[in-house]
Amino acid sequence: MGDAISAESATTSGEVRFGGKKTEPGFCREVERLSGQKLSACYQCGECTAGCPVAFAMDLMPNQVTRMALAGMADEVLQSRSIWLCVGCNTCVTRCPRLVDLPRVMDSLRQIATHRGVRCPEPAIRAFHDTFLHGVERGGRLHELALVAALKLKTGRLFQDVPAGVAMMAKGKLAILPETPEGKAEVRRIFEECKRRAGKGDGHAG
Ligand code: SF4
Ligand code: SF4
Repeated sequence: MGDAISAESATTSGEVRFGGKKTEPGFCREVERLSGQKLSACYQCGECTAGCPVAFAMDLMPNQVTRMALAGMADEVLQSRSIWLCVGCNTCVTRCPRLVDLPRVMDSLRQIATHRGVRCPEPAIRAFHDTFLHGVERGGRLHELALVAALKLKTGRLFQDVPAGVAMMAKGKLAILPETPEGKAEVRRIFEECKRRAGKGDGHAG
């Protein structure tokens, strides 16, 4: 992959290619605007990837995501499994000598992928992601039981983990009824503002 993203060339039409792949002008700016991160600050030391606990399952390493987003390789980045597999643990942030907040970058990439209707290669993660955010937007905080129920309906995995769920209910870890938190209206306003900043449509991304 390192080679694929290192060979930059310009065609006669002025189109810039990386490793023979077409790049999207303005993609880096879009990611930087949404994430508040400066991608060009990354000098590819690889510390983020070395510490990432889920790098073993990713198709693009965290440092490659940064580099490819900087290069405008929108299709490759937005179609990758990595942007959905990132668990936002912040390990990379604590290791980064350039203070690049990769979880924010990953959030922004999920947001852009969602807006563009890019097919998610991890449908179960996408279902969790959407269900979680819709629940928080609607109720002001997460109601775990409603999340589990909605997720089961979405994924069709109706009976998976039922014994664990029953045990958690018995111990009072899963509330049957949702609470109405103070600040519910503010939470909704935060979602609306995120959608406005994202430009249009469903701003759910993380
Ligand atoms: S640790 Fe920071 S500077 Fe190093 S590759 Fe990762 S994002 Fe770039
Ligand atoms: S925040 Fe994401 S990219 Fe960073 S170490 Fe954790 S899982 Fe890996």
